Order: sequence, then C-alpha cells, then structure tokens
Amino acid sequence: MLIVMHRQARPDDIKKVIELIEEHGWVAKSIPGGERTAIGVLKNPEPVDPAIFLDLPGVRDAIPVSKPYKLVSREMHPEDTLIGLGDDEVVIGGGKPVLMAGPCAVESEKQALDIAREVKRAGAKIFRGGAFKPRSSPYSFQGLGKKGLEILAKVREETGLFIITEATDHEVCDMVEEYTDIIQLGTRNMQNYRLLRRAGQAKKPVLLKRGMWATVDEFLMAAEYIMSEGNDQVILCERGIRTFTRHSRNTLDLNAIPYIQRESHLPIVVDPSHAAGRRHQVIPLAKAAAAMDVDGLIVEVHNDPQKALSDGPQSLYPEQFLQLVSSLRDMNIDI
Ligand code: PEP
Ligand code: MN
Repeated sequence: MLIVMHRQARPDDIKKVIELIEEHGWVAKSIPGGERTAIGVLKNPEPVDPAIFLDLPGVRDAIPVSKPYKLVSREMHPEDTLIGLGDDEVVIGGGKPVLMAGPCAVESEKQALDIAREVKRAGAKIFRGGAFKPRSSPYSFQGLGKKGLEILAKVREETGLFIITEATDHEVCDMVEEYTDIIQLGTRNMQNYRLLRRAGQAKKPVLLKRGMWATVDEFLMAAEYIMSEGNDQVILCERGIRTFTRHSRNTLDLNAIPYIQRESHLPIVVDPSHAAGRRHQVIPLAKAAAAMDVDGLIVEVHNDPQKALSDGPQSLYPEQFLQLVSSLRDMNIDI
C-alpha cells in the first residue's frame, strides 16, 4: 500500500499516517518526492484496507501496490536510484554506463595491478576481481581469500579505481565489507536469504547478480530482501540464465532489461562475460546491452587468459576491452 499525501499536507499529517501504520504493527517508509510525500506500508502480512487512511487529513490517495516487491518497485519510488561512490566521483544509475572490468579472480598482486592499469587507461572506473571464488568444482582455484582482498585494497590505492568483489557467505561478507567499495553477490547465492539479509545490513552498496535459474520476479524479490534490511544501495546485474543452448555458457536475457527498467528504480548493469562464456561473444553482447541504456557493464579482462586460473576463455584481452570502449564511443555512449 502506498499512501500519497496532498501537496499541502503538513508534517503533522504525515506523522499521523506513520503512527497509524505503526499502531497496526506494520512498518512505514516515508518517500519524500519533489511535489509531494508518499508513505509506503511494509511488513503487512495481509492486504491493507485503503479506507483506514482515506479520511485522515492530508491524505490524497491510498493505492494498493500490485507487486509482491515494494521497496524495489517504481510504484514506491518513481525516480531512478543513483548510487555514488567516493564523493560521487562515480555514480551508478540514471542510464550512463559505468564500466567495471578486471579478471575473474585476483591471482597475484602483479596480475591485478597490471590488469587494473590497462582497464583504467581504457576507461573503467571500477576494478572487479574475486578473492573468494564460488567454483563449480571443489578442485578448482578457490581464490586467494583475505590476501586477495589486501591486493584489491592495494589496487585501489595505486590506481584510484573503485573495487567490487564477491562475498560468498556471512563470514566472508564481514571481511569483504571492510575492504571493498561494492559487495558482489553471485548468481549461486541469489536465493541465499540469510546472506541477502546480511548484505542488507552492510554499509556498502551491493551488486546482486541474477540467479542463473531465476525469474525476473524472483530476482527482484531477492533485491527486496536486501532493501528490507535497510540497505537501499542495490545494483541489479543480469548475467545470463541457463537455457538449452550449447553455443554459449548462458543466454543473456536482454528482454529482462526494459522490464526491470520499467518495474524498478534500481540501477541495472549487464555482465556479458558470464552470459557468453566465450570471448568472441562478449563485445557484441556488451554493445547490445549498452544500446539499452543500462547503468553499467561488468566485464572480465585478463592479460594472459590462456593461463588464467578462472574464466580465461571468456576474458577479453586488454586490447579487446579498449576496442569495446571505442565501439561504445562510436555509438555515442558517454563513457
Ligand atoms: C564472477 O563474477 O566471477 C562470478 C562468479 O559471477 P556469477 O556469480 O555471475 O557466476
Ligand atoms: Mn568469472
């Protein structure tokens, strides 16, 4: 339920609405707008009867929210959410794509720094690199762990790039939150509800990847978990879903982009690398996503992909990343 106040509503009218919501044991979320204030009703187990609000002074309307997700919904928050890093040197949201790039995994200080310098030169603003890797095989490289986080901190210090890295569980999330600028939650954890709640308590933005088997509504509900704990700095990431194809690792669900842009105010970024699984598909997918006004691209780049400890076949060479950026500029995309 969304209670829309009159433009002339007084602060006391707003207070009365909030009190009534809280008397019922629900939670009120005030959403101040340019013209008028709206108040969302949250945590109501049953549908709310609009009549209880309509006679209160200053109330213009009480609109049932038709979607199961509320905080992520545009119905509740019509303007795009903007997520600023540092002193808003980088802002994610609003349709100008921010480039995030780097290796799948941090392998050594030299590897991370060399790649970071290359992607920075090309135009990336955020360095990606996993320190804790959720691998399909227990025998594959699992990441450098805390040492990897220390290397990422060094990369930020030396290059000025912001950092994004994945948190795979509660304990890791504590560490990652301390080191990173954006906490990444991976496809395999999209329905790890305890971890979603933990990320919702974090003081850093969270990039939530879509589960490879998840519907868009399940994806938005997962974001709702994070927001329901108080963190409204959530970035959605489409990274491909499993289909019957054999020509790619996953299928990049581009249909989801305009749907999400209409349904949610949260920024949406695209990961063409995990969708493709093969290097030659990454640039075309990235360009297609950029043409859809996404808020960012997260791309795997490696300077020696043949020897990469994870996801080498889908990693772009630094020159290819440069080529991608130049194609985006040719498309009049402001990088
Ligand atoms: C990654 O970004 O390297 C990663 C593991 O991504 P995903 O969770 O999308 O598979
Ligand atoms: Mn990867």
